[in-house]
Amino acid sequence: MVLKVHNTLTGRKDDFVPRDAGRVAMYVCGPTVYNYIHVGNARCYLTFDMVRRYLAFRGYDVLYAQNFTDVDDKIINAAAEQGIDPTVLTATFIEAFLEDMAALGVAPPDIAPLATEHISDMLEMIESLIDKGIAYVVDGDVYYEVAKFPAYGRLSHRDLADLQAGARVDVDSRKKAAPDFALWKSAKPGEPNWDSPWGKGRPGWHIECSAMSLKYLGFSFDIHGGGLDLIFPHHENEIAQAEGATGESPFVRYWLHNGFVTMSGEKMAKSVGNVIRVRDALAEAGPMAIRMLFLGTHYRSPIDFNADKLAEAGRAYDRLNNLVGNIDRIAAALDDKITVLTGAGKERQLLDALRSAEAAFVAAMDDDFNAPDALGAMFTVTREVNTFIKDRTRFSLDEIDALDEAKATLTRLGDALGLSFTGFAGSADVNFKADVDAKIAARQAAKAAKDWDAADRIRNDLALLDVVIEDTPEGTKWRVKKDG
Ligand code: AMP
Ligand code: ZN
Repeated sequence: MVLKVHNTLTGRKDDFVPRDAGRVAMYVCGPTVYNYIHVGNARCYLTFDMVRRYLAFRGYDVLYAQNFTDVDDKIINAAAEQGIDPTVLTATFIEAFLEDMAALGVAPPDIAPLATEHISDMLEMIESLIDKGIAYVVDGDVYYEVAKFPAYGRLSHRDLADLQAGARVDVDSRKKAAPDFALWKSAKPGEPNWDSPWGKGRPGWHIECSAMSLKYLGFSFDIHGGGLDLIFPHHENEIAQAEGATGESPFVRYWLHNGFVTMSGEKMAKSVGNVIRVRDALAEAGPMAIRMLFLGTHYRSPIDFNADKLAEAGRAYDRLNNLVGNIDRIAAALDDKITVLTGAGKERQLLDALRSAEAAFVAAMDDDFNAPDALGAMFTVTREVNTFIKDRTRFSLDEIDALDEAKATLTRLGDALGLSFTGFAGSADVNFKADVDAKIAARQAAKAAKDWDAADRIRNDLALLDVVIEDTPEGTKWRVKKDG
């Protein structure tokens, strides 16, 4: 089976063939560090964390770069409002971003370049654009002349002529044409600035991603990611800069874009004011619920975010996690040398079900990272295992091995999506608690009926689940036996 990815450039699902066999180089536009990120932003990083993890699961050696935009109008304005130095502001929010990503379980990038540490790379690219006659200087500002790059609009499927006709240049603009964009901005008083051949100034936003991605990943790297809103103009401009400066194509082989997180149908955005910070969502629901919520919808489709859906996603995660816990308990009972049956022989069926679930998982993910269907395959495993262990407390050794294999399968597939299972999570494990409570009630009933054999049998069953019971004047209490 071949992995297919939806490429914004071609507008369809293409076979994924990386530049170098067995290796994938990917770049994702990182945050502009002037505020806490919201769950809309988090969807982007969680999406590409999933892409990266699945590629690794598929055997690729993945190199992942993601920048920090630490010089920008929004940063300069926010720092000025707060009366602090922009570098103090950016340091604070880089730290906050790293904390949020760690809390969400997003694997750190292999390379995380700061724009402010790559000014010379950007200057080099701008100079080469000027040399080729694609960029022009006006009083210390440098603009990209979009008309000089005929492929402009290819990514966003816009027509260059329409773009030029559609927007009129402001009367006081120094640009030659409306779609032209700034590569270098001359310094205004009090703004961060660097020396350049055109005087003191700072880079435009678009040039940083072209310069840094090429520096670390080389030309024609495999995957460039970001949210839908970055297709135009940001990614369109990245292509124009990188291909214009090098005279080669394609800058990037596959462009992937995640859909929006909305609130009551409207895009979640700081400018709208309808944002939920990642740290607030984490406090409410935990990282696995957030990840599960996003995985439950295809990464290109919109997701309307609300507390009910988040709680529902948390319960879906618990179902997977509890299953791992249940398997652990059955296997732990074996370690305690409690007698197990031999030769019950149902394991073949379970092992077959595991194999077909894993095949379904891979087929789903190979189809442009269809995580909702992949999760469906994982829930098939939970159903199979639950049927397998239902109403049973004794298993053959082969059956225990098959259950271990089920746990290993869930762990492996979970890893490919960034879901990790801890197993028994105390009160979170509602199925297990309900099960134990029901058994204790049955034992009470047996005792009341003076059916001592039945009561003892139930006590043994509970011991097999690692549950220790204690009859007290207040009723029967139970706890899970600790290791050792
Ligand atoms: P920004 O800091 O605005 O550049 O956003 C960082 C990343 O989050 C970019 O890839 C954006 O496309 C993405 N993003 C921003 N808002 C949303 C949203 N509401 N839903 C999904 N992705 C978003
Ligand atoms: Zn970018």
